[in-house]
Amino acid sequence: MTGTPSRRDLLRSLPAVQRLLEDPAGQELVRRYGHAAAAEALAWAQDQARRRILDGGPEAGSQAPAGPAALIRAAARRLERMFRPHLRPVINATGVVLHTNLGRARLPEAAVAAVSRIAARASNLEFDLESGGRGSRQQALERLLPRLTGAEAGMAVNNNAAAVLLVLSALAAGREVIVSRGELVEIGGSFRIPEVLAQSGARLVEVGTTNRTRLEDYRRAIGPDTAALLKVHTSNYRIVGFTEAPPAADLARLAAQAGVPLIYDLGSGVLVDLAARGIPGEPTVRQALAAGASVVTFSGDKLLGGPQAGIIAGRRDLVEACARHPLARAVRIDKLTLAALEATLTLYLDEAQALEQVPTLRMLLSPVEVLLRRAEALAGRLRDLDLPAAVEAVETRSAPGGGSLPGVELPSAAVALVPMGASAASLARELRAGDPPVVGRLERDRLLLDLRTVDPGEEEELLAAVPAALARLAR
Ligand SMILES: *Cc1c(COP(=O)(O)O)cnc(C)c1O
Repeated sequence: MTGTPSRRDLLRSLPAVQRLLEDPAGQELVRRYGHAAAAEALAWAQDQARRRILDGGPEAGSQAPAGPAALIRAAARRLERMFRPHLRPVINATGVVLHTNLGRARLPEAAVAAVSRIAARASNLEFDLESGGRGSRQQALERLLPRLTGAEAGMAVNNNAAAVLLVLSALAAGREVIVSRGELVEIGGSFRIPEVLAQSGARLVEVGTTNRTRLEDYRRAIGPDTAALLKVHTSNYRIVGFTEAPPAADLARLAAQAGVPLIYDLGSGVLVDLAARGIPGEPTVRQALAAGASVVTFSGDKLLGGPQAGIIAGRRDLVEACARHPLARAVRIDKLTLAALEATLTLYLDEAQALEQVPTLRMLLSPVEVLLRRAEALAGRLRDLDLPAAVEAVETRSAPGGGSLPGVELPSAAVALVPMGASAASLARELRAGDPPVVGRLERDRLLLDLRTVDPGEEEELLAAVPAALARLAR
């Protein structure tokens, strides 16, 4: 037994936490994570070492006791895991272009650049450089929104839910708003049109039925207390079959006769005509306003492809009433979002430029042949690695998502993976555990990595993630 230290010797030789804290490497942990967290992690590392010795496993007697350097390294790894940012980039291989849980629209490069330009410096956010006095943050959008939509005026708030709440609060509180029973939408979570209306202080007057509402139904409901007609784009479901809803233009005429505004919640708010490019179902903002809507609301991060924001556009007096309402302050847009939104909207001054540079549009409109070629190339490279999985390129269909274009499915292409000796679901789990995490789609015991939502610039990371995940799976 000579030469082999006893357990007691090993335990006694474990360095004290205080000594680890005083070590230069320990000091570095204190500087980075603070004294309390560093001390906790070092105590944890020491405790782990103690357990190993007490468990008396093969490591206990045969190995040198954990020295200060090893314990500090273990603590550093733990701290790094613990304080790694929660919010991380992931590879969206679901095929759902606007995936609400994966951050909806990714920003165009011009918008990212605008955010970083404004973020770290002072800006003229609410400062009029000409007069030297106070300005409005909405000035950034004053030229762009009218030009891009035909509206007289426009403003932006935190998101579209806020835009709807603000418009109803400013234009209809204490009075009645007429809505079709076919348009009492729930967007998700607690955003339901009847509840938002109640929150705004307006009274909901439902007309028609779930599947059919006629202009006459609206006409009969108009009375002295009517503040507005509200049309809600059914952006996350469709009513098909025996259906009827008056076109926006007819509603607008009726509203004008009654002397009340037509409020049109568009949801997505697309600025290029997707129908003309083979994706039907979304009216453009310009079409909605041209049809006679007095004011429209739409999201910044759905089909527009910009940052999370809500845009209010339409008649100047109505937009100004919204801007003056006390709620406007509570839902105001922040400067980074504003910078991103202004840059995104600027791309739309030229439609071809927007189609090329707004990732959401680029992904939505990628031809399936291009996606299939990419899938085949990736599948070929993965097969060359002799992985423990069947790999093939397949044609599939994917959804635009994010509460837009319901019922629309786009032909797409994917790399299909079937791991050997393990389930596709367990491979999906390992891919999510990687860095960057990859989120795919399970379909009939296969894991599909849909290329419609993978940027070509992400392909090398995707290619590295698959063998790494299979290796973890085999462990
Ligand atoms: C998505 C949506 C909203 C909410 O927009 P957010 O930007 O997510 O707040 C409101 N109305 C409709 C019709 C929508 O589709």
